[in-house]
Amino acid sequence: MKHNVTRRQFLAGTTAGAALITLHPFSARAAANQAHLRIMETTDIHVHVYPYDYYADRPVDTVGLSRTASIISDIRAEATNTLLVDNGDFLQGNPMGDYIAYERGMAEGDMHPIVTAMNTLGFDAATIGNHEFNYGISFLEKSMAGADFPVVLANIAKSEGASPREDETLFAPYVILDRMLTDGAGNTHPIKVGVIGFTPPQVMNWDRKHLEGNVTARDIVATAEAYVPQMREEGADIIIALSHSGIGSAQRADGMENASVPLAQVDGIDALVTGHSHLVFPSPTYADYAAVDADKGTIHGKPAVMGGFWGSHLGLIDLLLERDGNAWRVVSSETEARPISRRNEDRSITALVEDDAAVIEAVRQDHEETLAYVRRAVGKTSAPLHSYFALVADDPSVQIVSIAQKWYIEQMLANTEYAGLPILSAAAPFKAGGRGGPEYYTDVAAGDVAIKNVADLYLYPNTVRAVKVTGAEVKDWLERSAGMFNQVEPGAQDAALLNPDFPSYNFDVIDGVTYQIDLSQPSKYDPKGGLAQAEASRIVNLAYNGEPVTPDMEFVIATNNYRASGGGSFPGAMGDTIIFEAPDTNRDVIVRYIVEQGTINPSADANWSFAPLEGTTVLFETGPRARDYMGDVKGVTIEDAGEAADGFAAFRIKL
Ligand code: MN
Ligand code: MG
Repeated sequence: MKHNVTRRQFLAGTTAGAALITLHPFSARAAANQAHLRIMETTDIHVHVYPYDYYADRPVDTVGLSRTASIISDIRAEATNTLLVDNGDFLQGNPMGDYIAYERGMAEGDMHPIVTAMNTLGFDAATIGNHEFNYGISFLEKSMAGADFPVVLANIAKSEGASPREDETLFAPYVILDRMLTDGAGNTHPIKVGVIGFTPPQVMNWDRKHLEGNVTARDIVATAEAYVPQMREEGADIIIALSHSGIGSAQRADGMENASVPLAQVDGIDALVTGHSHLVFPSPTYADYAAVDADKGTIHGKPAVMGGFWGSHLGLIDLLLERDGNAWRVVSSETEARPISRRNEDRSITALVEDDAAVIEAVRQDHEETLAYVRRAVGKTSAPLHSYFALVADDPSVQIVSIAQKWYIEQMLANTEYAGLPILSAAAPFKAGGRGGPEYYTDVAAGDVAIKNVADLYLYPNTVRAVKVTGAEVKDWLERSAGMFNQVEPGAQDAALLNPDFPSYNFDVIDGVTYQIDLSQPSKYDPKGGLAQAEASRIVNLAYNGEPVTPDMEFVIATNNYRASGGGSFPGAMGDTIIFEAPDTNRDVIVRYIVEQGTINPSADANWSFAPLEGTTVLFETGPRARDYMGDVKGVTIEDAGEAADGFAAFRIKL
């Protein structure tokens, strides 16, 4: 493999367009005893090679290693010496990854498309993210066998010794790259660059079924403390940590998921490449973090970077090195995360770079096959998946999301202290007309389900969360949801049912409990989640397993990161009740559920309904195609009430 060639020259910039390139000041001004080394980072690519959203089946300008790649050649040209590293989470996370894992498979000798793309770009090293374990160790090993670059990971062991240095690690814990460095006078000198990699030890929980009994995980910081001195002993002039771990607390704790701040304190590490959180560093996001300079891009004074996700940014660390006898040390640094696109004030997106043709060509065949994959059936549904009645009755499009979330959280909480608690699941209709218009509904017929249909069921790339709540919070969560409806006078005829100021994505249905909504009562919360009437109560007959839910009962609710961290201001979901943060998106979980089940049965179980109000009718509007499904709706009496404005159809409900 290429990386065994010693004393490789750093890749210098290409000549194409070089005339337009401004040399970085470190390169322009380096003295004879100094040299500029630029470290370029990609992270959390998640198989996004093409600028394409395979769920929506359309091109996008915000993602794609083909885009990041084209800034790589310019950015290389700005510096005398460069290194290109990847920080992990490249093998899973979009339908191309699923296609290779679930459909085509990786036989001995097969090339994984993301590895093909990375080889095309000439990466110098990479580490392994948590998602690399999602399809099992054998799949991972076969995928990485095709890499032209060293893969390092220090804290995952096939067999653990008495200390990390005695572990038999799954991948090489670190690599010492022998390179030739060009100094300010144009002379070249050898340098040894140590590169070590880390992944969150939580992989043992997240991918227990693949990892338990096969590998073990160590604490990131403790592992670094063991190996970094050894790398120095082996002559590393500088050491770069590839930390597939976020920038989090400065307070060191055993087994931290986001350990990059304490990691920066380890003596001997010169620069940190971070990731996992899908955020950007340096950026104001990290303004309030202890030991972090979010403006300068340092952690404990050491340069650090995080290059967004899906190829959105290229992370840059510029080091000015000075020769000290025969060794090199860092005397100055700058960091930056350079984006591939810009969001304009009107929310439109402008691409800032074009595709790199070599990357596009290298993966074209896999891209075409992935397009065919997302467009063909991967499973079947025994009932139609539509959202026409999602706001007035328990509904199959919401039900399937709830079922998949609960299925997933049950697996994740098995063998934890929460294993005995009842698991509920909260989901809301995302496509439910409103300002989206009369066609803006989920509508998948019974029969084949394709991957692109999943985007229709779950519009947002949220990740799964579990919160632990009381019975009182379950009730208030539902009171908050019930703000969807206007208050209805008993005996009223054709009263307007829906509050147009209330977005459907805040109408959470909680599956696993049964309840009714009494529309004669006022809403406890206003449409933004503020308390409107403290004594108001619309949720009646709230029960779990047929028994009334009491305020002090305890439940787990499966939901998403938006809701769990305070999105929509739901009681019990203000960020302080989270007990499990999943690495997986709700969409991935739905795909996995469909692929594993083969045929899904999303029939709604009618666990909620409106409380009867004798002699009262309300009108609501939905898409005209709702008429095809009127007979299937359970728990509510609906009749056609003709056409409504703007292409909508009106329906009458007898309460
Ligand atoms: Mn990731
Ligand atoms: Mg239900």
